[in-house]
Amino acid sequence: MKDSATLLARAQKVMPGGVNSPVRAYGAVGGKPPFISRAEGAYLYDVEGRRYLDYVLSWGPLILGHRHPAVVAAIEEALARGTGFGAPTEGEVVLAEMLVEALPAVESVRLVNSGTEATMSALRLARAYTGRSKIVKFQGCYHGHVDYLLLQAGSGALTYGVPSSPGIPPAVAATTIVLPYNDSEALHRCFAAQGGEIAAVILEPVAGNMGCVPPDSSFLAAARRLTQDYGSLLIFDEVITAFRLGYGGAQQLYGIEPDLTCLGKIIGGGLPVGAYGGRREIMQMVAPVGPVYQAGTLSGNPLAVAAGTATLRLLQKSNPYATLEARGEALAAGLAEAASSAGVPVTVNRRGSMLTVFFTGEAVRDYATATGADTARYARFFQAMLARGIYLPPSQFECWFISTAHGEAEIAATLEAARAAFRAVAE
Ligand SMILES: *Cc1c(COP(=O)(O)O)cnc(C)c1O
Repeated sequence: MKDSATLLARAQKVMPGGVNSPVRAYGAVGGKPPFISRAEGAYLYDVEGRRYLDYVLSWGPLILGHRHPAVVAAIEEALARGTGFGAPTEGEVVLAEMLVEALPAVESVRLVNSGTEATMSALRLARAYTGRSKIVKFQGCYHGHVDYLLLQAGSGALTYGVPSSPGIPPAVAATTIVLPYNDSEALHRCFAAQGGEIAAVILEPVAGNMGCVPPDSSFLAAARRLTQDYGSLLIFDEVITAFRLGYGGAQQLYGIEPDLTCLGKIIGGGLPVGAYGGRREIMQMVAPVGPVYQAGTLSGNPLAVAAGTATLRLLQKSNPYATLEARGEALAAGLAEAASSAGVPVTVNRRGSMLTVFFTGEAVRDYATATGADTARYARFFQAMLARGIYLPPSQFECWFISTAHGEAEIAATLEAARAAFRAVAE
């Protein structure tokens, strides 16, 4: 029989850390990751036959749960016709039409293979369109592993970014300004000082990569107004939020139209896809119509496009957002109450079907307050939940996601496990 420990040892011999994306290695929570062999609905099964209720959902894409029959059927149907042609297909047109219809701010769209490609390409386009170099991003927002965006702030409101990774040339980092999330004042000061040099402001309209951190009502509006006033572009990174917070994403929820939108995750239905789009006049600068080069051997891949289209169709038809909201609310309220009865201070942040239990009694509204959470206690909670068959993100600073396959029984089972897990970490 295969076991996870043996597989991890083999993996570590041939891959850095034995994984193809760092957080999978459980560095932040300790222990060894189970190797997964299959999944169905809300559940994962590891190679040793253990079952887990999954709140990671492939890091967000699987809003319909694993192996939804409509998505599986769409992939099989596409597979029967070929895995890729490097030539235009009808499927790409259908998915692009659905994206344009769902998001009024997106008049024209380019499909790519990942969220990282989407943000990288959107930045190049914004710089070309404005003829400016500087980018504003926010502390704690993740936009993929693009050099220009892999930066956190130093202290002080207008600090230039310090790279989060070696290998990023200082000259590249120097074009990115990093500000605190939800700080409209800092954004004001930044634009007053150097607004004429700023090509774009990029942000997660509901942050999901420092844990779930919703925006203050004034923050998104300030970003919209300032970019408009200074001739910069506003880029919403909706790789997580589009089709999760509602069919029209965060931009519909908050009533703000960005100039460019980055997409990924759900629009690929579990297969690798990204996209960036926006006003036609801007998108017309992308090759082959315009001079901004961006290409991809597998972009618009038929299997990925089929999975994404089937997912969006189902979301459109079944409109599960009220149910997801109710499940999210029940889960968040139950978790807060379980923590409180165990005497464990937590702050549960939630928007719709994305949430994070921060192990801190303080409100969490930006990177500084998020990192005030007790990560060691989260690690213990994570292990206590895993031991009870609940698969949470292996980091304090990630979102839990709920799918349409998470029914009332799943929420109840999670809360039962959580009551015991909070008691276990109370000491
Ligand atoms: C996941 C994510 C990305 C990167 O997408 P990849 O497909 O992993 O490259 C970008 N932005 C946000 C907000 C994300 O959550």
